[in-house]
Parts: sequence; C-alpha cells; structure tokens
Amino acid sequence: MKYDVIIGLEVHVQLKTKSKMFCRCSASVWKAQPNSHTCPVCLGLPGALPVANEEAVREALKIGLALNCQLLNRAKFDRKHYFYPDLSKGYQISQYDLPFCVNGWLEVDGSRIGVTRSHLEEDTGKLVHDDKNSLIDFNRSGIPLMEVVSEPDIRSPQEARLYAQKIQQIVRYLGVSDADMERGSLRVDANVSLQKPGKWKVEDGKVLGVVNNELNPKVEIKNMNSFRSIERALTYEIERQLQLFEKEEKLSQETRGWVEAKGITVKQRSKEFAPDYRYFPEPDLPPFVFKNSYFEVIKKEIPELPDQKINRFYHDYALEIKEAEIVTATKELADWFEGAVKAYAQTEKEGTTYDHIDSWKVKLIYNWVSGELLRRINELQVPLGEVKVTPAQLAELLYLIDKGEISSTIAKEVFAEMFKTGLDAKKIVEEKGLKQVSDEIQLREAVREVINLNPKPVADIAVGKKEAKGFLIGQIMKMTSGRANPGLVNKILEEELG
Ligand code: ZN
Ligand code: MN
Repeated sequence: MKYDVIIGLEVHVQLKTKSKMFCRCSASVWKAQPNSHTCPVCLGLPGALPVANEEAVREALKIGLALNCQLLNRAKFDRKHYFYPDLSKGYQISQYDLPFCVNGWLEVDGSRIGVTRSHLEEDTGKLVHDDKNSLIDFNRSGIPLMEVVSEPDIRSPQEARLYAQKIQQIVRYLGVSDADMERGSLRVDANVSLQKPGKWKVEDGKVLGVVNNELNPKVEIKNMNSFRSIERALTYEIERQLQLFEKEEKLSQETRGWVEAKGITVKQRSKEFAPDYRYFPEPDLPPFVFKNSYFEVIKKEIPELPDQKINRFYHDYALEIKEAEIVTATKELADWFEGAVKAYAQTEKEGTTYDHIDSWKVKLIYNWVSGELLRRINELQVPLGEVKVTPAQLAELLYLIDKGEISSTIAKEVFAEMFKTGLDAKKIVEEKGLKQVSDEIQLREAVREVINLNPKPVADIAVGKKEAKGFLIGQIMKMTSGRANPGLVNKILEEELG
C-alpha cells in the first residue's frame, strides 16, 4: 500500500455504579420508563449542585491502572460547552487538562497501543425519534462515563476491533461496566486517515509526531454498534479515502456515520475547525488531591487481569497461549476452568489440598471445557452463571473415566445429562445403567456369542484380514450398548480367536 493507515479510537464505557455521577438517581436505567430516573441535577435545572460519586472515581482510577496509566495526584472536572438538545445544561461536566489517568498502553496481539488519557465525565440524555417528533429521555443523563482515548497507534481495522474488545474484556474483569455495545454501555468512535509513509515520525511502530504539515485530513466515524461494524466501517472508509486519492479528489475533514444496513459511511457534518468548547474548571466541584497511599489501596483491589491470567495458565498449567486465551475470555470462565482443575487434582487424594496437577489432566479439562461445555453454552445461549454443572462435578465425571467405570464415549452422554439436570455423574451412571462392563466372565460370553454369529469375519481374520477384527469389536460394543471395557474386550477377543 502507498499509504500508512492511521487509526485512533475513543472508547466510552458506562460505569455500573448504583447512582449517577453527580446525583442520587439510580444509574440502572435499562428499559426503564423514559425520564423516570431524573432529578434537578441530572436534568440540569438552574441552581442544582453536583456532588461527585466516589465509587465512580474509584472505578475510573481502577480502569486507568488496568490500562497501565499514570494516575495524577491533582485532577479536576471541567465544563465542556456545546449546544445539543440532549445536553440540557449547555455543558457537559468532563475533564480537560487534568484528567484522572494519562499515558497508558494496552498490548493487542503483540503490539502496544498507547492510551493518551482516560477521563471521567457524565453521559448525556438520549434523543428518541419517531415519525413526527424527536423526544428526549434524560434517564441516561448523568450516568458516569469513562472515556479512553488511544494514540493514533492502530494500523488496521482488525487491530481496532481487537483493541476495543480488549477494553471490553478488561472493564468486565474489573466488574466496573457491562460494556455491552448493543445496549450502548460501550461506545466507540474512530478516527482514520491515510498518510504517505515518512510524513509521520514512527519509532518501533509508535507514532511520535508529525514531520511536516502536509497531512491528509482525518475522518471521524460514529454510530458503530458492534465490534464487527467497527471493522467493517474502517475497512470501508480506508477504501473510500484510497479511491479519492487515486482520482486525485480532495478529502475533507469531517464526521461520518456508519450505516449498518448499507455497509457505508455517510457524511454527517464537516469539521473544518476544532470546535471551541470553552473549557473551564467546574466551579461547583472542588479539585481532587490524591495521596499515593489512596492509589495503593485501589491497586490492591484490582483482580488478576486477562494477560496475567494467560501468562499464569501458560506457566502453571502448560496450556498453549491460544488455549489459555480461550479459557480466560471471561473471568467467570477462567474461574470455572481453574475450579475444575483444582477439583480434579483432589480426586486422586481425596481431602488433600490442591498443590500440583499433571499437565495431561489439565489438557483433559481444557478439552472438556472448550469442547463439551462451551459448545453447549453457545448452542443454547445460556450464560455460564446459569449452567447447572459445577466444576467439581466435571472433575468427578473425569475421575469415573480414570477409574475405568465409564468410557469417554459414555462420559459425553453423561455430561449432556448433567448439563440438563445438574445431577452428579455417579447418580446418572447408576440410574441409567451406564457403568462400564469390566466383568471378564460377562464379557467373554459376549465375545463368544459374537464369534459364533459371525463365521465369515472370523475366517477373514484367520487369513490375515485385520479390518475384520474391528468389525467384531464393533459388534461386541453394540451387544453391550457401548459399555464394554475396550481394553478388556480386545484382550478376550485375542484369547478366544487363539
Ligand atoms: Zn439525577
Ligand atoms: Mn467524551
């Protein structure tokens, strides 16, 4: 390509605090009656005074730490002025020159994406359009919103999607946001431009600055409602800009909206100049002065994050990185997996505490979790939290295979039943009579009967046709409803055939 693709993202994350950012209204407004969660503060009535929500501030700092940001000891809120009907005060309380978090980074698929800043602000109301009218719902107004601004370090639409997904994963691990794009609790705007190589000063893949002023304009894309549409919209926009350059047409700096149904971006407004928001310090809220000891306390509340977990699973459990990524997709799944590993390690020496588990056993758990468990979860669209099987129950099922009580084929059948009913493996095996037949006398009887009934294959084996043996084993398994111990069947068959 003749151009470098330069992408920067702004990710807005709604925090799931109990109350809103600056008032006592409940912040759980999903599907609530419009304008039922409002008060003079979040309606922006004259004279109403905001009070900062401490929980939101703590969560904002947590996000900053998780994004490897520097937390500023002195921070403040500022007023950002602009006129739009969903912003009744005529300004949004946001942060300008002293945000809570600056200079972070996030590793995405091996490359480091810089995080310029991460600041806390209040969400706006929401315009709802019907045939005749535009209505305003202020339930969303004043919900705490974390804005994470990336450096223009992203080089492809796919990388942009991965970066946004990683932020979603991290805030969910932190438990500070649902970060659901469909519900709007995670919203992404993208800036994209194509630049001739050399116009940017790049070191180790990071943009350090602009070499001269002859830069191509950037375009901002809004209205992307899924991770897939982030990737599609950027791919479309890069191609559109490329074609304009090829035709030597002029590209203007503007804001464009992604139209999902048509798969195109359309011009919303030109942005020839940076708007003047007339930022100034919010006079109704005193500035923050944080002690380092306060940051230390918050640091301790941060759980193990996805990258650390992947690393630990790689080292402690000898999982491949790809495998570790799959089982750490959510914190809940990682806990489930690890619960099963620990329970399985204890089945051998019951009552002992977990200290070591063989890697083949971890692999077996991994196969069951990524296969049987996740397949059902995806097929039936049940959240993991509602799954009836517990990690300990899976461990018990695998232990039954180890003890030779059931075969792995039967185990899958048992697991399907466990998933449906939540019953223990042992109980299902007993009730359904699925116990593996390891009784030599009983199996020998079955082997003899199959030999008597199949003279042709037996004769074939005698002249060296080995595949006939497989047929006989199949018949024996059929006769025992798949419950015969395969090793034993093989041994007895050898003996009986002489
Ligand atoms: Zn309110
Ligand atoms: Mn913002």
